[in-house]
Amino acid sequence: MGLLAIGTPLEWPEAKKVASHVRSWGIEQLLAIWRDYKGKERDALLWGDEIEYLVVCYDQNNHKVRLSLRQADILAALATDEKLLAEGGGVPDVQTGDTKGIANPAPVFHPEFGRFMLEATPGKPWGIGFKDLLDVEPNMKWRRKIAREHMEASEFPITLTTFPRLGNKDTLIPDYPPSGPKLRSQFVPDEIANPHIRFPTLAANIRWRRGRKVQVNVPVFKDENTPWPWKDPTVNYDLHNWPEDDDVRNGAAPDNFIHMDAMAFGMGSCCLQITFQAKNIEEGRTMYDQLSPLGPILLALTAATPIYKGFLADTDVRWNQISRAVDDRTPEELGEQPLKNDRWRLPKSRYASNSTYISQDPRLRKEYLDPDLIVDEDLKKRLIEGGMDNALATHFAHLFIRDPIVVFNEDLKELDLTKADHFENLQSTNWQHMRFKPPPIGSEIGWRVEFRPMEIQITDFENAAFSIFIVLITRAILSFNLNFYIPITRVSENMETAHIRDAVSSQKFWFRKSPFPAQPASRSNGPGTSTPANMPSRPPTPGPVEDEYEQMSVNEIINGQNKEGGFPGLIPLVESYLNSMNVDVETRCDLATYLDLIRKRANGTYWTAAKWIRNFVQTHPDYKKDSVVSDEITYDLVKAAEQITKEEGHDGLGKEMLGSRR
Ligand code: ADP
Ligand code: MG
Ligand code: MG
Ligand code: MG
Ligand code: MG
Ligand code: MG
Repeated sequence: MGLLAIGTPLEWPEAKKVASHVRSWGIEQLLAIWRDYKGKERDALLWGDEIEYLVVCYDQNNHKVRLSLRQADILAALATDEKLLAEGGGVPDVQTGDTKGIANPAPVFHPEFGRFMLEATPGKPWGIGFKDLLDVEPNMKWRRKIAREHMEASEFPITLTTFPRLGNKDTLIPDYPPSGPKLRSQFVPDEIANPHIRFPTLAANIRWRRGRKVQVNVPVFKDENTPWPWKDPTVNYDLHNWPEDDDVRNGAAPDNFIHMDAMAFGMGSCCLQITFQAKNIEEGRTMYDQLSPLGPILLALTAATPIYKGFLADTDVRWNQISRAVDDRTPEELGEQPLKNDRWRLPKSRYASNSTYISQDPRLRKEYLDPDLIVDEDLKKRLIEGGMDNALATHFAHLFIRDPIVVFNEDLKELDLTKADHFENLQSTNWQHMRFKPPPIGSEIGWRVEFRPMEIQITDFENAAFSIFIVLITRAILSFNLNFYIPITRVSENMETAHIRDAVSSQKFWFRKSPFPAQPASRSNGPGTSTPANMPSRPPTPGPVEDEYEQMSVNEIINGQNKEGGFPGLIPLVESYLNSMNVDVETRCDLATYLDLIRKRANGTYWTAAKWIRNFVQTHPDYKKDSVVSDEITYDLVKAAEQITKEEGHDGLGKEMLGSRR
């Protein structure tokens, strides 16, 4: 999450009144950053990953596992550990980047939305060296070890995306009754959220803006004994604490869907994110665009979320649930009522796949852009007057169609151009699958790009593998100037496809046929022919956009198409890049272990975590083929996940996901 400002947050009706004001100040702050940093050059190619954990607490005697709400205590223990602080780790000032000159600083820990969550990053960003890549997995293991050491003996930091029974009775410790004033959820208490005022205010104001609670509905998985039509048996239709209790009486919980009603069901999910620093803004914009079409592919490949609220779901990933959990659109914006008070119909939640491309790359054809993209034209005009080009101004004017949700009274007194609080307010509550991060004003940090779609994996080995793969493909993109452009609306379509159960083996995704430049017509006679001096060399005339891409399986995208002139595959592209870099044999060997995991996940040899978890549930003796994931199953599943985290398949458990790794 972003910076944790302190102050008095406005309730929604007051925040709404100052929304335009915050937006225009945010745009001025963005322009100040733009002026200062647009010409910044030669920044190092740094990168860093973020790992999110669920803190679980075992009750061995009763075969019960709950979520521990001790985030604040654990962070306090980390922040006061003198040894850890001396090693440069712990809980440092946000983003100062100060590692006290320590070469291998200890990891750092951050709060997250859920009071049962923890986030950890390396003590300093990774560098460009190949050797750094081999430090990632040990560092992730170090993080988990430190986290564990600052917990109680009954607790463990687990990397499942979601807690299988979140939203059921007796799943939290300490326990609180649901139906608090902020979330008004009938399933989870307000105490589920980080108590820092920003988080409950975010949840409350999203609900308030919408005019009802969020509706996080996931299709239930229909098994042999699942009653059909299925009615979520945990929904209470007779609650009368809040006006929002009417939601379910007004149809918020349709048949055959698992119904959830609070931000915690989405923002309480764990993911794996990678941030890159580019050498300059242009390179950052290229990385943003070229990684964008890879988002849905990596979402499908890392699928790990087959259970919600104690039921098997008919989808495999978390993405749309988070999207719905923070969807603040009003009935007018959703198209349910005629537009009267609101400005636009909005096709997407503020948590959604990317909606536009931002590079000034001549290969970016206008046909790849969404003709229906909604932008705030006044703010765009201001950005252009301020010197920003059309593509980037469009991107930010699109993010700024949203209202700021959490506004602190203290920040409204005067516009401070040495700060970025108003800009970050909008930027950090637009959760797309990539984020273009401008430098923090006044810092030495460069332009950064964040890759956000991946689901957290059970083991540090897998999390390292996916991080390293994304780093290497990014290097290959830059080194070979690869082109993955397809129309952005196809990327959004792919994002939906990625949700389908076992999409990695059962579905096809839109993908560009060739990542290489088209051969100019004058050179089609093959290498060696050159353009005669008296004839101007003309760039190839581009054909119809539809001819540039087709539907491919994840296996074809990752490992290559088995046909003449077919897509070469992301792993073979990474291999060519490594070949071109003369990586030493030992490093190359170590990297091969990681690439092998990706290759085999894509070709179906290894299972995704979603498939493994589903299979674990369906073969558990307590499973009655009725989609119910009981307490008993949950206990064994979480225990198994812990064991896999420690043994990484060496003892045979989880080998379908990991191989036997001998
Ligand atoms: P957020 O939660 O806003 O996405 P975080 O501060 O949690 O961001 O961390 C993002 C990642 O970026 C961390 O892994 C961190 O090590 C890394 N990072 C920090 N500074 C840089 C930088 N200058 N370039 C690239 N990565 C960086
Ligand atoms: Mg996080
Ligand atoms: Mg973070
Ligand atoms: Mg974060
Ligand atoms: Mg942060
Ligand atoms: Mg992040």
